[in-house]
Amino acid sequence: MNTKELTAQLKFDEDGWFSCSDTEALMKAHDSIRHQKQGLGLVSIVEGAGVELRRSGSLYTARCPFHEDRIPSFFVFPDGHWHCFSCQVGGDVIDFVKKYYQCDFKQALKHLGIKEGRLTAREREKVKKLKHGRELVQDFRQWETDAADEVALLCRCARKVLGNIGTEADFEKYGDLYHGLETWQYHLDILASGDDEAKFRLYEAQYYG
Ligand SMILES: [Zn+2]
Repeated sequence: MNTKELTAQLKFDEDGWFSCSDTEALMKAHDSIRHQKQGLGLVSIVEGAGVELRRSGSLYTARCPFHEDRIPSFFVFPDGHWHCFSCQVGGDVIDFVKKYYQCDFKQALKHLGIKEGRLTAREREKVKKLKHGRELVQDFRQWETDAADEVALLCRCARKVLGNIGTEADFEKYGDLYHGLETWQYHLDILASGDDEAKFRLYEAQYYG
């Protein structure tokens, strides 16, 4: 992976795709599941579960089935998702079934009569790539935090040592730290306020340089 790929990946991440990206999200994004899911009425699934919905304009409201709800805080939206504003849970029809029947993703698909559909070799490759990219981004973000801590510590130590230089012998011994401090300060600036591309160049230099 090079700088260009990683920045594209990071951009992708920002766009929100990866914020929910796990195997389920990847599966949900799969065309066959998406189409079948869209064909299901969330309202009828929720009502079928015994939740009493009341129509309110284009929305439906109910007492939330997931907490002791006195006033209706559970909403079903026309775009096919639901949300409880009190317990802050929500999602699509699959998430509702998973939570209501306390089952896993595969069981929810079965309950809804959604056929999982086989991923083609090409789709599997895409999923693999997306997962790999996501792991890379996670590693990178972790490195960013760790590196900033580490470099800040180095700067503090170097400043302390340099501040105590009193003799020529000291300078002989520790003078190189001036150069080190400059470099670390520069790295710290990048880590604190640089863009992802600059950070990634530093990451590359540190790990693959
Ligand atoms: Zn609730």
